[in-house]
Amino acid sequence: MASTYPRPVASVALNRLGSSFFASVTWKSHTQYRNVTTKAQVVTQAPPPHSLIPNTMLWRSLLITTVSAHRLLLSPALSLLGVLSKPRHSMFDVEKNPLLRSILKWTLYNHFCAGENAREVRATIDRIKSMGFKGVILTYAAEVVVEKAAESNTKTKMMQSVREGRSMAVPEEVPYDSAIEMWRSGVLETVKMIGSGDYLALKLTGAGPGVARALETGQPVPPQMIEALDDVCQEAVERDASILIDAEQHFVQKGIDRIAFILMRKYNRGEKAVVYNTYQAYLKMTPQVLLEHLLQAQDENITIGVKLVRGAYINSEPRSLINDTKEDTDNAYDMIARDILCRRFSSPGFIHRPFPRIQLFLATHNRASVVKAYEVQQRQSAEGQDLVLVHYGQLLGMADEVSCTLLQLKEKASDEGSVVPEAYKCLSWGTLSECLSYLLRRAVENRDAVQRTREEYFALRREAFRRLAGGKSHIRQSSTSAS
Ligand SMILES: Cc1cc2nc3c(=O)[nH]c(=O)nc-3n(C[C@H](O)[C@H](O)[C@H](O)COP(=O)(O)OP(=O)(O)OC[C@H]3O[C@@H](n4cnc5c(N)ncnc54)[C@H](O)[C@@H]3O)c2cc1C
Repeated sequence: MASTYPRPVASVALNRLGSSFFASVTWKSHTQYRNVTTKAQVVTQAPPPHSLIPNTMLWRSLLITTVSAHRLLLSPALSLLGVLSKPRHSMFDVEKNPLLRSILKWTLYNHFCAGENAREVRATIDRIKSMGFKGVILTYAAEVVVEKAAESNTKTKMMQSVREGRSMAVPEEVPYDSAIEMWRSGVLETVKMIGSGDYLALKLTGAGPGVARALETGQPVPPQMIEALDDVCQEAVERDASILIDAEQHFVQKGIDRIAFILMRKYNRGEKAVVYNTYQAYLKMTPQVLLEHLLQAQDENITIGVKLVRGAYINSEPRSLINDTKEDTDNAYDMIARDILCRRFSSPGFIHRPFPRIQLFLATHNRASVVKAYEVQQRQSAEGQDLVLVHYGQLLGMADEVSCTLLQLKEKASDEGSVVPEAYKCLSWGTLSECLSYLLRRAVENRDAVQRTREEYFALRREAFRRLAGGKSHIRQSSTSAS
């Protein structure tokens, strides 16, 4: 890929130092960047990461972060979203009020969501890939309505698969759970929208109360669910895509781990991890759980897929399960990532045990964690070591500075033949009303990550001023028409 901006002289020098480019130049560049006028300045300064964003996306992001970064604007916006997600009057129903629908669709929805149908979703995926992202993680935003699902448990229906004689045994007549069927058809529709190298994200409790109960109590999940998962995995394999199983609250997590291993045993036999399980660094128990899973994967000759997150349920989990401080969580995250990248067990008793085949997905908006992981790989690459396959992911509409810096770094690394960091954007799709709860969660997350939201706001504002002053964008040619 041809470089569209002058390569900083500083980076050439830093190249000899290998890993230090990322931390020393790129991350600071957005704060140091000024409209360049002299030749000397042009060659010493990298363009800001947001210069990779198309115009429409920039203005929309600026609008959303302006609201998110100012409490006085955000509080009423959150209340309004709360009202819209459970409308008591048709005026507040996004499906019945066309003006409200248009405003929400152009602003919040297009900022955070991929589309309401396959055509819109595919257009968004094309736009994301044309920006230089390796691919997308796609997830279906609609979650099963619990009351409806509970009713369905009483119905019975002959399972299609028995007639078809599929590999996973299902009894002749089994309780038919319409919640699982809704989940299965939504997820299958989703997996059909992704392509080679993409990921599908799965939230298992989204399949309704029957599945959630089984995950919580340690009972086997209904065969209908195993069969649905099997269908989804097979479709993913056909498309050369992978599956990320979301981590949820601790009381269902053991059950989720069990399902992840059932699927990994079947689909992760070769070099590629088709199925990834998610590990939450904020839980005190995670290093121990992960150690056990690594040993199990090694014993069973499985390629283990590890998606690493900090954890999203801090407000609902028992506090005693979670690290005492944010710093402890940060350290745990970076330590787990480093140990996996170095293929070593942190527990002294296991140092000499062989490490399993592994692939890593770092799902985080935290720039320091991304920098640290990339630095480890740069060092390993300089020493000619065999690298663990690692991908980085951020949510659509969030942490664009982190994502775009990864894109800049990818371009630079491709030019120089060094290790290329591959970034993904995580997209949710669904109708506007299906996505309202998701939008509300994103807005709350922006409120809680005050510092990062403000940094993103100031960076976007600087980029907007820079473009208004005639500064060039560095959008890849194929993405200029995207909105
Ligand atoms: C692509 C993607 C997929 C994700 N999938 C999942 C998933 O499957 N399951 C899931 O649970 N989450 C998931 N998340 C959310 C994730 O767990 C984090 O909540 C979110 O990304 C913010 O953390 P961060 O790493 O980006 O960095 P930061 O914003 O630096 O960290 C914030 C996080 O630190 C932790 N934290 C904050 N305060 C404290 C404290 N006082 N003590 C201890 N820890 C603290 C919390 O986990 C908090 O969310 C996903 C995120 C992304 C980007």
